[in-house]
Amino acid sequence: CGIVGIVSEDLNVAPLVVECLRRLEYRGYDSVGVAVLDDGKLFVRKGAGKIDSVDSAKCLKCLHGHTGVGHTRWATHGPPTDENAHPHVDCTGRLAVVHNGILENYRELKSWLQERGHVFRSNTDTEVFAHLVEEYLKEEGDFFKAFKKSLKAIRGSYALAVVTSLEPRKIFFARKHSPLVIGIADGKMFVASDIPAFLEYTNKVVILNDGELGYVEPRGLHLETLEGGVVDVNRRVIVVPW
Ligand code: GLU
Repeated sequence: CGIVGIVSEDLNVAPLVVECLRRLEYRGYDSVGVAVLDDGKLFVRKGAGKIDSVDSAKCLKCLHGHTGVGHTRWATHGPPTDENAHPHVDCTGRLAVVHNGILENYRELKSWLQERGHVFRSNTDTEVFAHLVEEYLKEEGDFFKAFKKSLKAIRGSYALAVVTSLEPRKIFFARKHSPLVIGIADGKMFVASDIPAFLEYTNKVVILNDGELGYVEPRGLHLETLEGGVVDVNRRVIVVPW
């Protein structure tokens, strides 16, 4: 299973997201999907199967936009079907979530959200996170605040990457007990499960610790902890030998 996110100043990211996902194939998976923001709108293509077969059926790499996330799924909750493939989208279609790991309290959260009118389209634990952010966004009015509040509500293991049409030049991320790293290139930033995903494009890396979260922009990385402390990014950048 694997996660890739790319936010770029000027590059069309979908073909690169698919290429980076291929470099994570060694981790194993049963489904694949991509979400891209195009002119402030969210587009998702996904399905069960190998990258090559889903890409030739649905052309994942044909999506267009400067901000995108991709996912290879190793099903834990819900069988490997097209609907259960990530990314998962909220009811309003404004945000898309990719996740590796297991959300242990998803049943409680799902019934709480269903009582509030949320309609679910998959059997995954992950979809709960998309609706949770949507729900908290109503109270908080700010995406990053709603994202952080949602992280406080979930239990279990996660590497998460989220894109939203509300902030189309950012990718929000968090990790706990599942790996996630950041790659820093010129005018573009990567989020990925492992360094080989993007090593061809940059060897400037930040390896996230458990309990860290934040967002990347084409020329920026904001990092903080679940407790709210801001992390000095400059002290965390390492250069990996090529
Ligand atoms: N638990 C999630 C699912 O079954 C994520 C699995 C993964 O790590 O790929 O959809």
